[in-house]
Amino acid sequence: MTTPEPLAPEVTAEQLRLAPRRIEAFALRFRRDTRLVTPFGINYGPQTVFLRVTDADGVMGWGEAWGTFPSGIGIEHRAALIRTVMAPLLEGQRFASPTDAFARLTAATRLLVNHTGEIGPIGQVLAGIDIALWDLVGRRAGKPLWRLLGGARDSVPAYASGLNPQQIEAALPAIRAAGYPALKLRLWGGGEPHAETLRRIIAEAGPGLCVQADANQSWSLDEAVAQVRSFAGIGLQWIEEAIPADSTDAEWQRLRAASPVPLAAGENLRSRAAFDQAMENGLAIVQPDMCKWGGFSGCLPLARAIIASGRRYFPHYLGGGIGFLCSAHLLAAAGGDGQLERDAHPNPLRDHLVPPPAVIGGMVALPDVPGWGPPPDDAAMRDYLVA
Ligand SMILES: [Mg+2]
Repeated sequence: MTTPEPLAPEVTAEQLRLAPRRIEAFALRFRRDTRLVTPFGINYGPQTVFLRVTDADGVMGWGEAWGTFPSGIGIEHRAALIRTVMAPLLEGQRFASPTDAFARLTAATRLLVNHTGEIGPIGQVLAGIDIALWDLVGRRAGKPLWRLLGGARDSVPAYASGLNPQQIEAALPAIRAAGYPALKLRLWGGGEPHAETLRRIIAEAGPGLCVQADANQSWSLDEAVAQVRSFAGIGLQWIEEAIPADSTDAEWQRLRAASPVPLAAGENLRSRAAFDQAMENGLAIVQPDMCKWGGFSGCLPLARAIIASGRRYFPHYLGGGIGFLCSAHLLAAAGGDGQLERDAHPNPLRDHLVPPPAVIGGMVALPDVPGWGPPPDDAAMRDYLVA
């Protein structure tokens, strides 16, 4: 007898069963004219991996695995992992559900993770496969994923992300026109005083638009403590990755004790245990990226636990169109008062390959079709396909 699937209580055991016959990977890249120098490397433009699982009846499910870094090689590597490592573990097998597949593939790659040290890339392709398998279940069941996973709403609020302080003035009219409730700034360089910049931008944004800031792990602990103390009373919503994600528990706790501003992080955590510990250490806003770790099977129970603990769940996302829509489905299914992260810069891998998920009145509407939405356009994908 099969145990009922707690993530999708209204789906029958028969609808959850999977017999994947084939998995394909599509490494997609768009080169920008300008490069972005980040604290962790140079970004030459969006790159991501879409993947497609076809079952024994010919039904297809689509997923996405994170591959943004390293630029120039990250996606080729993840696509090769899918073809060489994951395909033999998946094709021709039978699984009771996507959650069963996620657990079994995670167990089957445990020794390889230890042997290669590639916990990140292998976790990312496992996440992408999980997304594709849930999509396949949704398409078979004829239900949109947010509904299949127990959600109660068909749209979610989004915030504008990825902006540098110098871009704000030019970006504000479009942010206001889209009705975003919040924007997020990158604040790199722990040695520079950022409080004055923040105060100016918060005043410019006005009362209807919240401001949050992301240091992208670029401050030392001492710099972070000094920075967050200087943010007291200025109305900043949160400070994200003020210190490196792998800082010790004691370092995170010291930052928490010093900070008058709520702490956010999560895009660089890779296990349920790591998220649980980070919450213990004082995270108030928790930001898993479902294409980097967990897919739906890992992130939906986590999101529900975040919300049940009184913390806030804000999905991290800066990748392509499948992961963006799936993050919206996940947020809708999880509930809470979180918002979907949406890069304020154009990204053809997000906007040209699947029906563009526009922000209207600050909301992203979820397509009322099976799975996460209409599948990607094959011809459009060919324009960006590199491997
Ligand atoms: Mg971030």
